[in-house]
Amino acid sequence: MTEFKNFTLQTDSDGIAVLTWDMPDRSMNVFTEEVMDEIEKAFDGLVADAAVKGVVFTSGKEGSFTGGADLNMLRRMNEAYESERKSDEEGAMRALFDRAGRMTWLWRKIETCGKPVVAAINGTCMGGGFELALACHGRVASPKAKLALPEVKVGIFPGAGGTQRVARMTDIQSALQMLLKGSTLSADKAKGMGLVDEVVAGDLVEAAKAMIANGLSPEKPWDRKGFKLPSGPVYSPQGAQVWPAVSSLYRKETYDNYPGARAIIKCVYEGLLVPMDTALRIEQRYFTEVIRTTEAAMMIRSLFVSMQALNKGARRPKDVAPTDLKTIGVIGAGFMGAGVAFVTAQAGLDVVLVDRDEETAARGKAHSEKLVKGLVEKKRLSEDKAEALLGRITATADYEALRKADLIIEAVFEDRDVKAEVSKKVAAVLGEHAIYASNTSTIPISTLAENAPDESRFIGIHFFSPVDKMMLTEVILGEKTGDKALAVALDYVRAIKKTPIVVNDTRGFFANRCVLRYMNESYDMLIEGVPPAMIENAAKAAGMPVGPLALNDEVAVDLSEKIMKATMRDMGEDAVDPRHFELVTSMTASGRLGRKAGKGFYDYPDKPAKKRLWPDLKARYDQKPASEVDFEELKHRFLATMALEAARTMEEGVVVDPREADIGSILGFGYAPYTGGAISYIDGMGTPAFVELCERLAAKYGERFEPTPLLREMAASNDTFYARFGGAKRAA
Ligand code: NAD
Repeated sequence: MTEFKNFTLQTDSDGIAVLTWDMPDRSMNVFTEEVMDEIEKAFDGLVADAAVKGVVFTSGKEGSFTGGADLNMLRRMNEAYESERKSDEEGAMRALFDRAGRMTWLWRKIETCGKPVVAAINGTCMGGGFELALACHGRVASPKAKLALPEVKVGIFPGAGGTQRVARMTDIQSALQMLLKGSTLSADKAKGMGLVDEVVAGDLVEAAKAMIANGLSPEKPWDRKGFKLPSGPVYSPQGAQVWPAVSSLYRKETYDNYPGARAIIKCVYEGLLVPMDTALRIEQRYFTEVIRTTEAAMMIRSLFVSMQALNKGARRPKDVAPTDLKTIGVIGAGFMGAGVAFVTAQAGLDVVLVDRDEETAARGKAHSEKLVKGLVEKKRLSEDKAEALLGRITATADYEALRKADLIIEAVFEDRDVKAEVSKKVAAVLGEHAIYASNTSTIPISTLAENAPDESRFIGIHFFSPVDKMMLTEVILGEKTGDKALAVALDYVRAIKKTPIVVNDTRGFFANRCVLRYMNESYDMLIEGVPPAMIENAAKAAGMPVGPLALNDEVAVDLSEKIMKATMRDMGEDAVDPRHFELVTSMTASGRLGRKAGKGFYDYPDKPAKKRLWPDLKARYDQKPASEVDFEELKHRFLATMALEAARTMEEGVVVDPREADIGSILGFGYAPYTGGAISYIDGMGTPAFVELCERLAAKYGERFEPTPLLREMAASNDTFYARFGGAKRAA
């Protein structure tokens, strides 16, 4: 056989070599320096061997080709650069450039090796693996294969020829859309785009061999004279129509916040003007630039490394044995409970969904019926699976059915007395080892725990709406919550494939506390006379997915009023700015409750008309001329006020791990993802710069921007949250 650690190589009597990638120590193949060395060595041997007529490259892992590159390689590259530049800046940059292009030129070597190579894609094929497949001369894929170049999602871009080959194989709009979104393609979709040649249900390797036996050319179209781009040349009437639109769409979608996305446009535009080798060099140059940006570093750390760690249970108490969850009880089949029942059944768990009467419980189950129907219609769920999913939900008014539940989640009205009443009933049916959780959004877990049958087995599991879409769950620890409860809660969140952050009990927990700052800042801006459209645009330009006024309409303006009243009741009148209270109560008094009422900060005319800002909003406050508003400063105010609140939660010990604050802020309220999250925003610019920014804003807008004592102390020693709170060490 072979001398490789990660590959087997077999050449049959037909002269076709099959190189099978199967890393012994990993469940999924990923590119590492060692893997690339072995690929190079294997191809050098195959090219030199006159008996070899062609090569099939495939994977030995069931259902997966590769997950792409090990992103730690990028970290190592940057670390090497940082250490080498101390003695030789220019040499270090050249070395980084070479390392960044390693994959590019290896794939190019395979593309120009003179023998036909076919990728047999047996399943998931991501990033660098898809780029390798595109460099091959043919691609056959199993119908279940999923293909993507998702790099843009972690702040970089496909830098091993991906931008060049996709743009030469499919029309420019589809190419850019796929590259900029990082979207996953089914095998059929990839075939439709010309990125895969054949979708084969049978033996992939045989199909790949047949392509070679049928005379597959080892020369790529773009390496032949007279090659024509699918959408025509850049400088042509067609190109003149496409490119200006691309540029404006890019700005609209990204507000130019993502260096990775910007580089994709540049690579494709500039690369299509020149031959392949020069184009690859252009791509390599941009890649070298992008991997050194703060955005790439922060996005990789949060959205890849930390996200994986949290999903794998970084905060789970190690000495509690894994729980074998079978049945989950959900009490309250309203808006939230119905959603929780759906995601739980979707994860294959049995659900007992309880409400005050059978009819209301059934209405809660009907929510799942509606969602399932939609999935079946979109062909994302088979009829059989849909039926099985619904079969797992038992809707009932009988608390006795909860006896078999391993975990009971309460989602009844947000009312202490109602919750206390429910806790009494739960006491009678809670299993000896079962855990009891509440989905409350405002009531401290420790006070609810007082009515629970066993405080150590009581915990908060706080979902976000809509439950089936929002990926975050806050797991809230009460004062007496035990390790078993935490472990079970985290095992449950993992089972339903959401990302947990563990938060200590406090008003608003983490996400709502920060997002309230976002809305409050928009009230202040309105009161200052900033035109409402500028407020919304500045927030989006700062990287927020939804403007604060639109968000307020989504969550309901009367809910804002309720929260303000509760805050004043619990913390005193001064805890709420009277001008904010006046704004919100005057809106609710005139029925402007938000989207659900068809009017709030926006008007919501019947479709297809789009929502538009309520014109009278401008009349309420003296409007500043747009030219007098510092747009950049509005952006800073939004990001800084939320980041400051996140910093406060860490200082108070509400959140103890910066990774959780970062992930919680991105998944919970869409905090500008290019920053890596609310804490990485501070670390990314450096605590001294953040404190300076806050001081400047505090001088102009008031003490809400005053840096906390911890921030000042950290700024003085140029400390970061990740260094100080151990996240960096844990994330490594
Ligand atoms: P909801 O009014 O839509 O549903 C509450 C349900 O509880 C109703 O179906 C009601 O019939 C039922 N119920 C009331 N008393 C009961 C009892 N004694 N036994 C059984 N069922 C009973 O409310 P919701 O929006 O789903 O909120 C539920 C909980 O989730 C609240 O604690 C809320 O704070 C929390 N929460 C809400 C959101 C949100 O966006 N709405 C987000 C996170 C958390």
